[in-house]
Order: sequence, then structure tokens, then C-alpha cells
Amino acid sequence: MAIPLLDLRAQYLRIKDEIDEAVAEIFESQQFIGGPKVEALERAIADYARAPYAVGVASGTDALLLLLKASDAAAGAEVITTPFTFFATAGAIFNVGARPVFVDIDPKTYNIDPNAIEEKISPRTRAILPVHLYGQCADMDPILELAAKYNVFVIEDAAQSLGARYKGRPACSLGHAGALSFFPSKNLGGAGDGGMAVMRDSEIEARVRLLRNHGASETYYHQLVGTNSRLDALQAAVLLVKLRHLEQWTEERRANAAYYNQKFAEMPEVITPYVSPECHHVYNQYVIRLPKRDQARELFAKRGIGCSVYYPLPLHRQECFLDLEYDENAFPNSCAACEEVLALPVYPELAREQQDEVVNAVKDHLASLFSISN
Ligand SMILES: *Cc1c(COP(=O)(O)O)cnc(C)c1O
Repeated sequence: MAIPLLDLRAQYLRIKDEIDEAVAEIFESQQFIGGPKVEALERAIADYARAPYAVGVASGTDALLLLLKASDAAAGAEVITTPFTFFATAGAIFNVGARPVFVDIDPKTYNIDPNAIEEKISPRTRAILPVHLYGQCADMDPILELAAKYNVFVIEDAAQSLGARYKGRPACSLGHAGALSFFPSKNLGGAGDGGMAVMRDSEIEARVRLLRNHGASETYYHQLVGTNSRLDALQAAVLLVKLRHLEQWTEERRANAAYYNQKFAEMPEVITPYVSPECHHVYNQYVIRLPKRDQARELFAKRGIGCSVYYPLPLHRQECFLDLEYDENAFPNSCAACEEVLALPVYPELAREQQDEVVNAVKDHLASLFSISN
């Protein structure tokens, strides 16, 4: 039996009646954009993240983009972030006209190294954009200290980390604002694209609300040049249903991760996820490092086991960013991670026997390396 990296159909089957009813309700109402479901989701997400405000938008990418715009990151500005993240993080910075200023990661957590940030702060720095990669928060307190010292914004890319906590505080409540994605593969995934901007400042909230709707508070009267980035009522209805189950699904992901950790403890060649004692990890991805990663991928493919590499190329080496003129050998921790990381299935519905198959595949991969080298 094949084991997928993620099985969204298994999730749907657990909550089919609730989802189908929520979808039918939207069709009965024929209100497809904005409206009470979107407002209810905004309230529910703000409460869940213990932040004052949340604004539904069309994607996680747009949440980043509109938060950057609302923070006045524009042409000539610099925004500090990590080169080891999904493209959208730096793409959003570039698309507001600002320069992504990359800072290497901590090789243990894969998140931005707070000790390497200060030397990159300049008079043009407008914001720091840490990413909570794979489901674990970046080390936020030193970042927030620097932000206060230099008077810059902190926008959290929490696309992979809804429900994660740092020193007991939830992702998106740590900085000035946070961006969430409801892309189907995220821990809270919709039936299509969707996202949310979460913030503590009412002025930023007001600006993001305007920007997502062509800068108009009253139809046909435009205070700002914004865009169309509204959240669909269908997405909100589906997400409200799923949000009720998120805590349980997160616990199941964490239990699956703990099971892998225990099994991989017998394999010293496998580096399992490091979890900071200050963090509550929600495992959007369970990522290991192992020798001859690409060979392991071939073995997994042969056995029908899903796995993936997040991410194979650091952002400073992407073709579209070559004009930024970074040294390709800069950010050695990010470059090394790109060569060695492998995400294994960890979704809530994954069964123990399936995990055993994944573990056996890793074991066989290591054994094959050993037999070649002897
Ligand atoms: C998914 C993701 C995004 C973008 O979200 P979309 O909803 O796909 O636009 C941004 N940053 C990170 C780290 C992500 O994982």
C-alpha cells in the first residue's frame, strides 16, 4: 500500500458531514465573498492566536504582501528574512519594491539565526520577517529586542505554524503582525487558496482591510490603491469547521512525530527535528536530515512512500534573485539544509504501521550505504 506524504481525503472522510453541511449553507445563502462566515473566521482566528485583529485575504502570499504594504515597506526599503523558506516570503518583499536582505539560519531549528541579524540592519531596514518553518516558531525574543532597538516592524510568516507557541505565546501574537496561509496542505487548510493577516495595531488592521478591497471603504471611493484579495465565504465556512478540530489534529501530528523520534533514536545517522524547550511544535512537516538524501528519495519512490524536500534551492540562488548579487556560497547553513533535509509523512490520519514502513525504508537506505562503503 502506498503511503502519501499527505492524505487530505482521509481528513475529509472524518468530517464529511460537517463540511458538506457548511458548503450547502453557503450555496443556500448565495453570499460568496465576505459576509458573516468570513467575519466569524476572522474573530475565531484572532482569538485562537490571542491577537486583537485578523483580516481574511486571498492567500498567505497576499497576507505577507498587504502587511508589508501596510507597514510602509516600499521601494528603497530593506526587509530582513531567511533564504531557507518557501519562495513567497521573499517574493512578497520583492513585490512591494523592497530588497530581501537574507540572514542565514540556525542549523538546528532551520529558523533565522537571531545572532546574525543585527549586522544586517541598516537605516533602510523597515521590517524583520522571521519564518516559523515546519511548525516551530523562530527564536522571537532577541528578534523583538532588536526591532525595538532599531524601531522596525516584525512580521511573522506563520504560514506553517498556526497553533505553534513560543514561551507559551501563540504564533502571530509575537511580533507586530503575522501572516497565515490556508493552502490545503497547511495545518488548517481550506478547499482552495486563502490566508489571513493577524495584527495587534488597529491602524495596520484598517489599512489591510482597505488594501484587500481596492483601497475602498465605501464602494467606488478609493483612499488607497489596493488590490482584490478578499477571502471567499466558502473557504471561511470550510475553515470554521476545520478549526474546531485543529487542536486534536495537532496532537495527532505531535504523537506521530514522537513515534518517529523514538524509532529514529536507534539510528544515529538520522538527525530528527530539534525542538527548542521554549517551543510548542505543530509539525506541519516532520523533517529529518540523513546522508545521501537523494538516494533515499529514490528508495522511497520505489516503495510508494511519499516524501519531499522543503526546500531544494536557497532563495539567494534562485534565478529571479541573481540580480540581488548575493554570493552563491553565502548562507552555508541554508545551503547545507537544502542538500540534506527530507520531509516524511506526519499527517494526523497516518497509522503506526504506515510509520513503521517509513522507518524501515530509512533503515534499509542506511544499511545500503553501509554495505557499499565496506
Ligand atoms: C505556504 C506558505 C506561504 C504562502 O502561502 P500561500 O497561501 O500559498 O500563498 C508563505 N510562506 C510560507 C513559509 C509558506 O509555507
